[in-house]
Amino acid sequence: QVDRFLYHMRLSDDVLLDVMARFQAEMVKGLGRDTNPTATVKMLPSFVRSLPDGSEKGDFLAVDLGGSQFRAHRVKVFDDGKQSSQLESKFYPTPKEVIHGNGAELFDYIADCLLDFMETKNLKHKKLPLGFTFSFPCKQTKLEEGVLLGWTKHFKVRGVQDTDVVNSLRKALEKHKANVDVLALVNDTVGTMMTCGYDDQRCEVGLIIGTGTNACYMEEMRHIDLVEGDEGRMCINTEWGAFGDDGALDDLRTEFDRELDLGSLNPGKQLFEKMISSLYLGELVRLILLKMTKEGLLFNGKVSTALLTKGKIEMKHVFAMEKYKEGLSNTKEILTELNLFPSEEDCIAVQHVCTIVSFRSANLCAAALAAILTRLRENKKLLRMRTTVGIDGGLYKTHPQYAKRLHKVVRRLVPNCDVRFLLSVSGSGKGAAMVTAVAYRLAAQRKQIDAALAPFLLSLETLREVKSKMRTELEYGLKRETQASATVKMLPTYVCGTPDGTEKGKFLALDLGGTNFRVLLVKIRSGRRRSVQMYNKIFAIPLEIMQGTGEELFDHIVQCIADFLDYMGIKGARLPLGFTFSFPCRQASIDKGTLVGWTKGFKATDCEGEDVVDMLREAIRRRNEFDLDIVAVVNDTVGTMMTCGYEDPNCEIGLIAGTGSNVCYMEDMKNIEILEGNEGKMCINTEWGGFGDNGCIDNIRTKYDKEVDEGSLNPGKQRYEKMTSGMYLGEIVRQILIDLTKQGLLFRGQISESLRKRGIFETKFLSQIESDRLALLQVRRILQQLGLDSTCEDSIIVKEVCGAVSKRAAQLCGAGLAAIVEKKRENRGVERLQITVGVDGTLYKLHPHFSRVLRETVKELAPQCDVTFMLSEDGSGKGAALITAVAKRLHNVGQ
Ligand code: ADP
Ligand code: MG
Repeated sequence: QVDRFLYHMRLSDDVLLDVMARFQAEMVKGLGRDTNPTATVKMLPSFVRSLPDGSEKGDFLAVDLGGSQFRAHRVKVFDDGKQSSQLESKFYPTPKEVIHGNGAELFDYIADCLLDFMETKNLKHKKLPLGFTFSFPCKQTKLEEGVLLGWTKHFKVRGVQDTDVVNSLRKALEKHKANVDVLALVNDTVGTMMTCGYDDQRCEVGLIIGTGTNACYMEEMRHIDLVEGDEGRMCINTEWGAFGDDGALDDLRTEFDRELDLGSLNPGKQLFEKMISSLYLGELVRLILLKMTKEGLLFNGKVSTALLTKGKIEMKHVFAMEKYKEGLSNTKEILTELNLFPSEEDCIAVQHVCTIVSFRSANLCAAALAAILTRLRENKKLLRMRTTVGIDGGLYKTHPQYAKRLHKVVRRLVPNCDVRFLLSVSGSGKGAAMVTAVAYRLAAQRKQIDAALAPFLLSLETLREVKSKMRTELEYGLKRETQASATVKMLPTYVCGTPDGTEKGKFLALDLGGTNFRVLLVKIRSGRRRSVQMYNKIFAIPLEIMQGTGEELFDHIVQCIADFLDYMGIKGARLPLGFTFSFPCRQASIDKGTLVGWTKGFKATDCEGEDVVDMLREAIRRRNEFDLDIVAVVNDTVGTMMTCGYEDPNCEIGLIAGTGSNVCYMEDMKNIEILEGNEGKMCINTEWGGFGDNGCIDNIRTKYDKEVDEGSLNPGKQRYEKMTSGMYLGEIVRQILIDLTKQGLLFRGQISESLRKRGIFETKFLSQIESDRLALLQVRRILQQLGLDSTCEDSIIVKEVCGAVSKRAAQLCGAGLAAIVEKKRENRGVERLQITVGVDGTLYKLHPHFSRVLRETVKELAPQCDVTFMLSEDGSGKGAALITAVAKRLHNVGQ
């Protein structure tokens, strides 16, 4: 009879799967920007982004309002590696006049209780951080703020809705002169998740089944439309109690549910909660028994006054009656107390009613939880997932069968999740302290990270200063008296004009000084069929040759040329050759270049001070196998400028942002004091990488820059290059990561073997990590490949570090370039300058932000110049050939 009567309360798995699907849809609705306003399940961001990691420490206070009892706590957290903590709590009554009174009284009461607690614990002299567990739906825009959306459960305090409860609590505490700092507002679900998360790092769901019911879980930031940012995760307080408030569950609600709702404090609201939580189960049972009695199914049809009285059957009665092991005695006793004179059959029937009602609660709760678990699994793109759910609440904890039933149903509904249910010990209050502890740790860490990265943030003023210092150094390099000691060497290249399109012929080119050594054959056609064709071969230069003797290096080069000539079948032809040699060379003519000093990764002996063209010629002679006509020695910047100049006559600057950093530009002869003649122009290879070698930019060099410098092949040299070029950016990042790890801010404070290895952090990883298209999970994977075992938070920090280093590099480079274009504008004596910069280098081409920041900086610092950036296609090959062609033409004209 009871079964038939309560047919609608017994939910099959099919129905539960359907409820699960409906709840999944509700979650999506709550997360979407456009759908949130009309969603019933509010999916409130909690601004809790991190779970405890075990390094939290300190002394924290918490107050817990919204459960069955009001409590104050003190939690001591130790970072002893054992996740230990100490909790002291005190209960305070929640008088009806307070929870049905006005806001000021409520917060005064909380402050009073807290002060009493601090007094008994002798804490008045310390300023302690406090977490406020407030288990009602709040709209948060940060951790320490929350606007109450509406009271739930048995609370109804006037004048609090739509106000910030943290602010109200702070004011009350101030009034009472309490020495505390409210750092976090926490929902009890979040507190539960955090408490359990302290013991089990896998915990990412918090569930409350008590006076009320609610759940929270860690959602991917990219799915949370209402909060800026895509990185990492944030805990979402679902406020699932309101599920069904739009009628979504009406087909499952019975006449008893409707009747109960009408008699509640908040009719039409929290309909899901009213089917689940302990505050309502007793009342549901009462309404059912009443109806059954009225229909003559129980107690001989005799209704007692007690049975007619709202609230007469409480949760504890339902619990007691469901203790099957104790037979019917409990049931009988309780019913008798209600003046119902039950027969044995009545007792059995009532017991059965209780079971159906509480089982339905567990079923519904399981369906919604299953929806959350499925969402978590899908977010992680896993087929199977292991996870932990932290749970608190009287119904779950004290009801004799509730927990078992819930677990069983959940496992049936989501067979591909291995779920551990972890009971939260001393739940929500400790959780608030944990949230506060995490917030406290994160705030302290944030401060340290900001401090480490602060020197990388350059103000506009600083950048202007860099630009003007660069300008000064450029002038030094051009002036006769200062030239010898100048750090920006301003080397004449004997390239006096850009191509005019009449160049033609077959040329060889060598490209030495980048990542790869290459030999090229370049065919240039002029006239109507103007075109450039190139064939090239890449050769490796082993480290022992790069850093061996000069003779070995040049013998190796000639060997490679011989291979190439064989390969192309052109060994007999004595072709003109342009030698792109991307190191600072002092030239006396276009085919003479004395190496001033190695840079980047090269360090062969007996080369500095020697003419590299002579060294190449001698090596060719030593081999005695073929002959070449070495026409020009070319810097890669010049090659780049020439290549772009071939397309755009306005291109008078060449920029390299690759392994190294350098610039050349066309300077008026009259400004080049060290050369005779005042007519025309010549290309100057600035070798600006050495900018700062006299200490003039030491004010912006960080300790990380100094470490990179000290560990390099050429300490003290190329200081600007070491802050701006591909060869060093990864290394700067590595130095910062080491420092942050030492400070315990990264990788759990463990410096791994791989992080110790110089060079492991290549600049290409900066490009990958900083790519906007990359999800955090992929950043983690990259770091893992590097042997860096990172958490989600670590990855965010690493990305931030990379961003700071590359941004500074681009800005510094932009400041330097601004000095060059400004100088060109002044040379021409124009108000506005239109100019093109030819650019080459993988850093510029492949880094996701470098080129944009560089361009923006130039625009900001040289507002009177309209600078066009033109990517060079293989400047060092094509450019060298073009220069050779021009030189050959001039040479022939001369003859
Ligand atoms: P080079 O300057 O040696 O002639 P490139 O212009 O190709 O040659 O630059 C190579 C340098 O660019 C490498 O040494 C490395 O520092 C950097 N690099 C390589 N890949 C990337 C990338 N994906 N993003 C940024 N920089 C990179
Ligand atoms: Mg290059």
